[in-house]
Amino acid sequence: MESVLVSACLRGVPCRYDGRDKPSAALDAALAGRAAVPFCPEGAGGLPTPRRPAETVGGDGHAVLDGTAKVVDDEGTDVTAEFVAGARRALARARATGCTEALLMPRSPSCGRGRVYDGTFTGELVPGDGVTAALLERHGIRVRPAPGV
Ligand code: SF4
Repeated sequence: MESVLVSACLRGVPCRYDGRDKPSAALDAALAGRAAVPFCPEGAGGLPTPRRPAETVGGDGHAVLDGTAKVVDDEGTDVTAEFVAGARRALARARATGCTEALLMPRSPSCGRGRVYDGTFTGELVPGDGVTAALLERHGIRVRPAPGV
């Protein structure tokens, strides 16, 4: 059966920064019978749950991968290394499980696709991708924002 990498918080895993999950009622329809491979890049990168909220600063996930932007939490702690490590582990999991597509949590600094927070912690969104979404896309895995969240 074909597999799709899915943000773990969409599948009932309480791995968000606030210690909660965020189920998507529309996820099953988007999976269209394919198997979900739940994965949380931030946890896999070594960050605890709960944790301070983080945003990319100076650019989106692509800029982080290029070394021209960073990821910081709302207390100013640099968590770039953890975000990049988690993205690499997500890519490894996707490859190991044969995923060619990912359905990820919208707006997240890791999982966001197309729009992410602007680094000011004010709720403003800008065009861009999260760090994991950017790395997956760069390696040929199609990333779509999950519906219904
Ligand atoms: Fe969900 Fe992705 Fe954030 Fe993990 S990194 S809590 S999977 S949005």
